[in-house]
Amino acid sequence: MSGKQIVFATGNEGKMREIRSILADLGVPVVSMKEAGIQADIQETGMTFEENALLKARAAAAAAQGSVVLADDSGLEIDALGGEPGIYSARYLGEETPYQIKNAELIRRLEGVPDSRRTARFVCAIAAVLPDGREFTVRAAIEGRIGREPKGQGGFGYDPIFYVPELGKTTAEMTPEEKNRVSHRGKALELMKEVLKRQ
Ligand code: IMP
Repeated sequence: MSGKQIVFATGNEGKMREIRSILADLGVPVVSMKEAGIQADIQETGMTFEENALLKARAAAAAAQGSVVLADDSGLEIDALGGEPGIYSARYLGEETPYQIKNAELIRRLEGVPDSRRTARFVCAIAAVLPDGREFTVRAAIEGRIGREPKGQGGFGYDPIFYVPELGKTTAEMTPEEKNRVSHRGKALELMKEVLKRQ
């Protein structure tokens, strides 16, 4: 892989820990934008997870010459709601609204919907911009169902209402290691690692 370091365009420390541990065997330091001394005003104006991840990665790449820049964009798609909240997951009902309220509202909107039609997925796209300007994107998902009540204290965001039938629990009831193994972000990072290894 070319590039002296990998800059991940996020300000989220939880994400950085997960990313560092998964990308460790590339043998290149992985730093956040802040650690790389980069400031970028990033507007998520894309219509897909991939477009938004690319917008973030390009904005950071403009200020991070010589580095490989990665960025992710993720969200929850609920089939019975036509894919909502989707790319608007962070902004759903307002960016500052507590997830207790967002989760309660989604459960309310699914009142009367049987289990078989409560299908949903967390999606994560990761974009890479290489020092020579080449761009790559990958996408992964974890399939599940929206529960009838929030369960579990772990994770963040929509985790308490995202039930994974194969594991018999919500992503908020998983340990961080367990969630990384099966999650959209964990799987997308593994895919991106393979892309970077080939460069
Ligand atoms: P991003 O940080 O712009 O990718 O926004 C992702 C949003 O999607 C978060 O703010 C959450 O609302 C939701 N989301 C993404 N991944 C997860 C997850 O693993 N658990 C719970 N919510 C998630």
